[in-house]
Amino acid sequence: MSMLDNARKIIRDASNGLGLDEAITERIVEPDLVAHFTIPLEMDDGSTKLIKAFRSQHNNKRGPYKGGLRFHPSVTADEAQALSMLMTLKCAVVDIPFGGAKGGAAIDTKKLSDKEYERFCMAFARRLTPLIGPDIDVPAPDVGTDARAMDIMLATYNKFSGKPESFATFTGKSIENNGSRGRDAATGRGGVIVTQAVIDLDENIPEKPHVHVQGFGNVGKWYAQLAQARGWRVAGLSDSSTGITTHAEEGFDIDLTKRKKDTAGSLGNGTYCVDGQCEADLGKDINNAEFLTHPVDILVLAALEDTITADNMKAINAKVIIEMANGPITDEAHDYLTQQGVTIVPDVLANAGGVVVSYLEWLQGKDAEQWDEERVNDRLEEIMLAAFERVWNRSSKDSIDLKSASLRIALEKLVN
Ligand code: GLU
Repeated sequence: MSMLDNARKIIRDASNGLGLDEAITERIVEPDLVAHFTIPLEMDDGSTKLIKAFRSQHNNKRGPYKGGLRFHPSVTADEAQALSMLMTLKCAVVDIPFGGAKGGAAIDTKKLSDKEYERFCMAFARRLTPLIGPDIDVPAPDVGTDARAMDIMLATYNKFSGKPESFATFTGKSIENNGSRGRDAATGRGGVIVTQAVIDLDENIPEKPHVHVQGFGNVGKWYAQLAQARGWRVAGLSDSSTGITTHAEEGFDIDLTKRKKDTAGSLGNGTYCVDGQCEADLGKDINNAEFLTHPVDILVLAALEDTITADNMKAINAKVIIEMANGPITDEAHDYLTQQGVTIVPDVLANAGGVVVSYLEWLQGKDAEQWDEERVNDRLEEIMLAAFERVWNRSSKDSIDLKSASLRIALEKLVN
């Protein structure tokens, strides 16, 4: 099933569970607008490439459209639409005053020079300008985009919008360009906060759990680092090329592993870093399939969608799974695993920390303020824990899994 069909299905199933009218359900399923762009990108060698790009504005019943911009070769209009639906649900689950959007471009940033990347961000922002604004649609980073992209795009928007300069049209900007302290770590931090809440409630999980983190981009790195800071045993890491595990009691030295990966270009090849040292006998490489099925207390999925599907669901050996990517477990695999007693904290809750701090950045941008990091982190924790409690209680009350409980809460908020 495609990601878009999957997103439609989860909304329809949750609506059925609530007994909502079919017309209302379909109104929530359909996006308000899916814009298609063809963007000419001038390459350094003087040639021009035509890049396909999209922005899906799904629903703004609860506030301005909100969601990231993804640069990845596999981006399609359908994927953007599916992800924009998840954003609508996510903002409702954590109860922040935004709707849902998502955009992206089918482009491989690894093949672009700095100048080409910059030119592409400008060209895309010019196309987006008529569709966005602080109270209309507020883009943010996603896979393949970062603070630098947001800075460039906001400057372009301010130049061409013909409206008063505003810092609140993009979130995820750099601190120097009116970004928020704590935004970079926010998605990972939010995930660690909800994982801690599960550990506190689930007696099958040790206080210092054995954790595997799949994906070592911004989200995975921060998750791993903050988990380690709590004393959890992060003994498995992976990126798109390989997985690594260590037998060391204390797990990996995340900070050092990060630096190693930056120099080596990928994880693996003996770059096992434990307790300030990186040595070949501290761990081993395992392939990505093996990595996912390793017996652990907590498996964190922080890469891309469709990581656990009908093909590998039976081999999964984790007590708790945290969905830090968007849609990393297909619906079928989700149902199978929950029936097996695995606790799955769904993406719309687990990875909402990013958009929560985007909301705090938006508030700061509107008032031309910058808060200190403690204030941001405290507010993030408050919002995440309140959302977790609502979802956990709803799941017990209705005897349903956490994903169904999240979706019921989100749909009720949208309908009301
Ligand atoms: N791209 C992130 C997400 O999927 C953040 C979105 C935002 O901050 O608007 O949640």
